[in-house]
Amino acid sequence: MVGMALAKSLYAIPTWTRTVRLVAEHEGLQRVIGCAPSEWACYRFARTLRGHSEALSACLDRVLAAVAERLPDMGQNIAIDGSDLSAYANGQRYLSKHGPERERFSDPDASWGHRSAVSTRKGGGFYGYKVHAAVDAKYDLPLAWTVETAKDAEQAFALGLIDAAKARGFEVRTAIMDKGYDVGPIHDGCMDRGVAPVTALKETTRTERGEHKPPCCEHGEWTFSGADFKRRRTKWRCPTGICTPASVWIKATRLHPLIPRESKRSRALYASRGSVEREFGRLKHEWSLLPLRVRGLDRVRLHADLTILAKLACRLAQERAKPIPLAA
Ligand SMILES: [Zn+2]
Repeated sequence: MVGMALAKSLYAIPTWTRTVRLVAEHEGLQRVIGCAPSEWACYRFARTLRGHSEALSACLDRVLAAVAERLPDMGQNIAIDGSDLSAYANGQRYLSKHGPERERFSDPDASWGHRSAVSTRKGGGFYGYKVHAAVDAKYDLPLAWTVETAKDAEQAFALGLIDAAKARGFEVRTAIMDKGYDVGPIHDGCMDRGVAPVTALKETTRTERGEHKPPCCEHGEWTFSGADFKRRRTKWRCPTGICTPASVWIKATRLHPLIPRESKRSRALYASRGSVEREFGRLKHEWSLLPLRVRGLDRVRLHADLTILAKLACRLAQERAKPIPLAA
């Protein structure tokens, strides 16, 4: 049955019924899977899995651990973001134009949320869910994720995703996020977890006052000269060294993060944030995360778990097929 779930994601088929039809007329797939199950068996399997989510998450843990064994620096820099999943349901409030208000919703767990513009599609409201994920910025692999109803704010899940990635054994060092996550509690929560946040600057009245800028003197803007993670401070120096004192320590806050936004390292890390966007795109369009053909939060969650499991299992197979590099 796991083979059926893999076939469903590999061939990007939205429903079990069509997966069953494909396998039924495909001898090669039957050989690999070992049988040609009926759609009822598939639906029973899905229902059983929903009742045993701990078994599926243990399976995901093992696959991720096996991939991480082959990619030892995986999980050090993670990019966090959320993305929209339109529900398999109609969320219109009225049954028809000027008609009566809708009383029953086919997917009561879905809700209205906001999504940003992508390519030629306008941003705006959508009805459904959001998947929030922490993706390895180097290998583009999801390490932790959660599906929530669309109206919940993305910021609420960032720290939980870092905790989940750490619980899976990843040594997270930096968390890369867009400016929506540039708020005090997320900055401080990251620092409490030993993770340096890398975010774009959110414009507030404090940034208008220039509070995020480096210190300066008559000789110009001071330059960054090191960070102390334990003391949560960054060091800044007068460019000429004439001033006394010639350097100051600044406490790390969202305005003055430990990896300063002016630094090359911060810019390089922020540039790798695309990994999470790319991964959402691939999961949705190549691994059939979309279109959703199930309703209800627990079913959508299972669908996301199985889709990501298929993707990770494929990556594991690819990594296993590679020759083991000889130690230098
Ligand atoms: Zn000076």
